[in-house]
Amino acid sequence: MMGNKMLIDTHCHLDFDQFNSDRSAVIKRAEEAGVKCVINVGSSLEGSRKSVELASGYDSIFASVGVHPHHAEEVSEDTLFEIEKLAKDKKVVAVGEVGLDYFKSPSAPERQKEVFIRFIELSKKSLLPLIIHDRDAHRDTLDILKKTYSGLSVRGVMHRFSGDKKVLGEVLEMGLFVSFTCNLTFRNAKVLREVAKCVPPERLLLETDAPFLAPEIHRGKRNEPAYITELRDILSELLGLSKDEVERVTTDNAKKLFGI
Ligand SMILES: [Zn+2]
Repeated sequence: MMGNKMLIDTHCHLDFDQFNSDRSAVIKRAEEAGVKCVINVGSSLEGSRKSVELASGYDSIFASVGVHPHHAEEVSEDTLFEIEKLAKDKKVVAVGEVGLDYFKSPSAPERQKEVFIRFIELSKKSLLPLIIHDRDAHRDTLDILKKTYSGLSVRGVMHRFSGDKKVLGEVLEMGLFVSFTCNLTFRNAKVLREVAKCVPPERLLLETDAPFLAPEIHRGKRNEPAYITELRDILSELLGLSKDEVERVTTDNAKKLFGI
């Protein structure tokens, strides 16, 4: 007997245009693959609104509200006010994705930092965990979190983790969860796989970041939540746990962090 199969995709963007033609079929395929729950993550004000709307239409979909650091320059006081209002919706389980991205970003680092701090304040005020985006900005991301939490543990997840073992050590010390996407299955992701081996299972979450980063077997195509099984399988190998154990522990972690 397989038991009660259940996977949670803690980070995807089903509101994106890439899903306009077959959104409901994608959601159905996810359910059939055992993905009983997804968190649709807002990456702009518009995306956050759409995420909340999508979540209201499906029991299996929850929402997160925030603005991706690439759009930091577009964030006004009005934007923050609107996001705060959205955060009160009962299907909203996190603030994100928010953080810093210094890889070819159209937004200046200084503005990104200011906006990130405001979203951290919102996460504290609304008692919602953070979904943190950090690309090529590990030092500043960690420093801001340390400063704003003054040594207390941070309730949140480092999404699409891309740091080395030293960064991982700091992230774990701060009490954060860590999630990888299907890019862990890429042939050239050897270094990342070595880092993934060091994550204690009780701090691990799964995510697809769909439509981005489809697993190696679908490389270059659109990603979707059903493909999360590829990620479960590679983590099962890397951590020396059965596939069922990976499912159980990551699902428990996601329920605990997001209160779902
Ligand atoms: Zn994302």
